[in-house]
Amino acid sequence: MNPMNIKEVQLLLKQLKIQPRKFFGQNFLTDSNIVKKIISISELSKTDTILEIGPGLGAITVELVEIAKKIYAIEIDRRLCSYLEDKFSIYDNIEILHGDILKIQIPDHNKVVSNIPYKVTGPILDRIFFRINSPIGILIIEKSISDRIFISGDYKNFSRISINVNTFMEPTSQTNISRKSFYPVPKIALSLIKLIPKDQINSFFSERRALEFFLSFITGIMPYKNKNIVNAINLFLKTQKDIQYTKEEVNSILHMNNYDNKKVFDFEIHEYIEICKLFYS
Ligand code: SAH
Repeated sequence: MNPMNIKEVQLLLKQLKIQPRKFFGQNFLTDSNIVKKIISISELSKTDTILEIGPGLGAITVELVEIAKKIYAIEIDRRLCSYLEDKFSIYDNIEILHGDILKIQIPDHNKVVSNIPYKVTGPILDRIFFRINSPIGILIIEKSISDRIFISGDYKNFSRISINVNTFMEPTSQTNISRKSFYPVPKIALSLIKLIPKDQINSFFSERRALEFFLSFITGIMPYKNKNIVNAINLFLKTQKDIQYTKEEVNSILHMNNYDNKKVFDFEIHEYIEICKLFYS
C-alpha cells in the first residue's frame, strides 16, 4: 500500500526507523490529490523515460511505474533506496540509483517528474535544464524560485534563474501547493511547475564553451541588475582573465550594436543572448 496521508507516512517512517533528515531536504508528499495533479500535467506515455530526483518513499514513483517505459529514480538516502528496491522489486521498468543528483552520471531521459529536494533547486536546474536537448520538467519547487521563472514584468523577482530558465525552457504551468501536503511540513511556500524545452534554441549554444560562457556572463552581470548594463558587463569582464576591454570599449560595442545603456534587468531574454555573444571570443 502507498502511504497517502500524514498518519500513514509517519507510521511507515517509524516502521522503517527513519527520521526525516533536514540535511537531505526530506519533505514527503502526503496528499494523493497532489500526486494526481503531478501525473496529470506530466502527460505520461508508454514511450517516456523518466528521471525522478529524490523518490523518497515513492509517492510519485508508484504512479510512474504503471505508465512510463522506464524510470530512473535517483535517491541519496541509502535507507530509502533499500525500501524502494523492495517496494518495486516486481517491476522491471525501474532502476533505483543510489547517489547524489548533482554528481551521479544521469542516464538519458526525456522527462523529469519530481518533488525535488528544495535546497538544491538552483544546482538541479543548472545541471538538467540549461542546455540543448533538455528534458520536459514537472517539478515541485520553492514558490520564490518559481516566481522568478514565471516572470511577469516584476523586476524584483527577475534574476539569473529567470534568464537561464527562459533561455532554454518555456514555463507553461504554475500551481501553488499547500505546505500541509508534506511531512514534515516545509517552512517555505511551494509551487508545482511545468517546463517545456524551447523549440528553437540559439545555435550559439551548440558549442559547450559558448554555453558555459553565457551562464557565467549571466551569473556575472545579474548581481548588478539595478546598474546600467555597461557597468555590469565591465565588472563581469574584470573577472575574466582572457577578455580585456575598457569600460569605454564595452560602451561602444553596445552602442555600435544598437543597445542602449539601460538597467541590466530591462532587456528581453533574447537580448541577453545577443549581448553575451558580443563579448564571446
Ligand atoms: N519525492 C518524494 C520525496 C521528496 S523529499 C516525495 O514527494 O514524497 C526529497 C527527496 O530527495 C528525499 O527522498 C531525499 O532523500 C532526496 N534527496 C535529497 N538530496 C538529494 C540529492 N542530492 N540527490 C538525490 N536525492 C536527494
